[in-house]
Amino acid sequence: MQTPALPTIEQIASCVAGYDPNALAVTQAQDFIARFVPQVGAVERLALRCALGRALAHDVVSPFDVPSHDNSAMDGYALRSADLRGDAPTTLRVAGTGYAGQAFDGPVAAGECVRIMTGAVMPAGLDTVVPQEFTTARDGTVVVPPGVVSAGDNRRLKGEDLARGEAALHAGRVLRPADIGLLASLGQAEVPVRRRLRVAFFSTGDELRSIGEPLAAGCVYDSNRYTIHGMLTRLGVELLDLGVVRDDPAALETVFRSACENADAVITSGGVSVGEADHTRQVMGRLGEVAFWRIAMRPGRPMAFGRIASNGRTAVLFGLPGNPVAVMVTFYAFVRDALLVMAGASSQGLQTLPLLRARTTEAIRKKPGRTEYQRGIVTRAADGDWDVQLTGAQGSGILRSMSVANGLVVLHHEQGSVERGDYVDILPFDGLV
Ligand code: AMP
Ligand code: MG
Repeated sequence: MQTPALPTIEQIASCVAGYDPNALAVTQAQDFIARFVPQVGAVERLALRCALGRALAHDVVSPFDVPSHDNSAMDGYALRSADLRGDAPTTLRVAGTGYAGQAFDGPVAAGECVRIMTGAVMPAGLDTVVPQEFTTARDGTVVVPPGVVSAGDNRRLKGEDLARGEAALHAGRVLRPADIGLLASLGQAEVPVRRRLRVAFFSTGDELRSIGEPLAAGCVYDSNRYTIHGMLTRLGVELLDLGVVRDDPAALETVFRSACENADAVITSGGVSVGEADHTRQVMGRLGEVAFWRIAMRPGRPMAFGRIASNGRTAVLFGLPGNPVAVMVTFYAFVRDALLVMAGASSQGLQTLPLLRARTTEAIRKKPGRTEYQRGIVTRAADGDWDVQLTGAQGSGILRSMSVANGLVVLHHEQGSVERGDYVDILPFDGLV
C-alpha cells in the first residue's frame, strides 16, 4: 500500500487516554488501531453478484421511486373509500381485473370496483383494497361487509420504500444478501466497491513443522497458519500464505520484506514476547514503526502492532502471540475490525458484534483490571434462558477448547469473579468463525 502522511504511533498514543504500552486495556488497543489503520483507496466496479461481502465505495442513489406506482398489497378488490356505506354492506359492480405487470386501465365509475392482485397498479381514482376473504362475489358484483376496511388500507404508496434520488445504501456498507437484492431492485448491474484487501501471513518458530513432515521430539505442527487462513477466508480478503519461518533474523527479514511489498497487512504469530529466540520483535522494530504491547487481557497478552516498510511499500503489521488460542482471541478482538476498516467498511458497516447474555453453570474466578475470554458451551436451558458452561482447562495453548466451544465468555476489564447463576456476556461463534 502507498499511503502518504500517516499519523505516527507517537501521535496516536497521545490521543489514547492513559496510553501505557505495558498495560493497555483492550478498548484502548482497539481505539489505537482504529485511528492508525489506513483504508485502501482503489475502487473497482463489480457485477452485482460478485459484490457480496465487499465494501461499497460510493453511495448508491435510487434512480426511481420504489415502488414506482401505488399498488395493491393484497389479492382483493380495489375501490373508492367514498363508496363504502358506513354500517351496512356495500355492493359494487366489478369493472375488470388488474394483475401484477398488467394494470387495469379502463374507466371505473362510481359504485364500481376492480378485482386486483398483489402488486398490481392501483387503477386511477381508487384508494383502498379490500382483501378477497372479507367479500362475497356474485353475478359480476361483490359485497363488502361494513367495518372490514378503512380508506387507504392495503395500498402501497409510490415511493414509500425509497424516493427517487434518495440514498439506498451508503458508502462503507459491507454488502449483505439483502443489500444485493436491494441493488437488484434498483436495476444496478454493477456496483462500485473497494478493491479486496491483500493480507500476508506466516508463522514463526524453530519448533514448527508443516503437515507432511515428521514430528521430531519437542516439535509441533504449525496450526496457527491454518486457523488464520480460515478466519481471513471468512473475512473475504485476498490471502498470501508465506509459510513457516525459522527464528532466524535474516530469514525473518527476507519474509517481512516480501510480505510488506505484496500486501496491505501482515499477520504473524509467535516470537513477540521477550524470550531468547524471539527475534521477530527486533526485526519488526528495524523495518518500521512498531509498538510492543502488553495488553491487559487473557489470553493474548503480548502483541506487536504498527507498520513496516520495504522498497517504498508500507503494510500494517499485527504480530500476534504464538499460543493457538491467543492467536484466535487477538484476531477477533483486534485484527478483524481493523481489516474491515482497511477494506473500506464504515463504522456503521462494521457489525459491532451483538453479545448474548447467558447464565453460568459454574463460578468463574476473574481478576478486575483485565479482559478475559474464556471458552464456553452455550445451550438452551429448560426455562428458555441460555446457560453457559466452560470447556474445562483454559490454557492458551489448548486449541481444542476453541473447537469444542461455541462461543467466548467475555469477562470485561472491570469485572470481578462470577458466581454460579450470574449472567455473563457471550460472543457467539456462529456467523463469526
Ligand atoms: P512464542 O510466542 O513464539 O513463544 O510461542 C508460544 C507458544 O505457542 C509455544 O508453545 C509455541 O510452540 C506455540 N506456537 C507458536 N507458533 C505456533 C504455531 N504456528 N502453531 C502452533 N503452535 C505455535
Ligand atoms: Mg516462538
